[in-house]
Amino acid sequence: MSLIECPNCATDEQLSGEREGAVIVVACGRCGITWERPAAPHCDRCGSTDVVAYPVPLIERSRGTQQSITAMHIETMCRVCDAQRLSDRGEGHLPARLG
Ligand SMILES: [Zn+2]
Ligand SMILES: [Zn+2]
Repeated sequence: MSLIECPNCATDEQLSGEREGAVIVVACGRCGITWERPAAPHCDRCGSTDVVAYPVPLIERSRGTQQSITAMHIETMCRVCDAQRLSDRGEGHLPARLG
């Protein structure tokens, strides 16, 4: 884990962060600016930082059998808790089975 500091005034003491999905919105209490940084990756369940970020396509089923990917969602997978899912999926590939 690395300390963060304000890109504007370089303080690292008056920062507050609020998680917003895949990013943390950090606010500097000294100069008042806010910025986004990727959420510090860690497992919500076991607290491990041994995690990988997986892009997960959000599939929308339209009429019939056609599927279209409407967005990508970044999901944090834990190498401990999600070991089975990770081995099913394989590194760096989209899931073989969608839906
Ligand atoms: Zn600042
Ligand atoms: Zn975990």
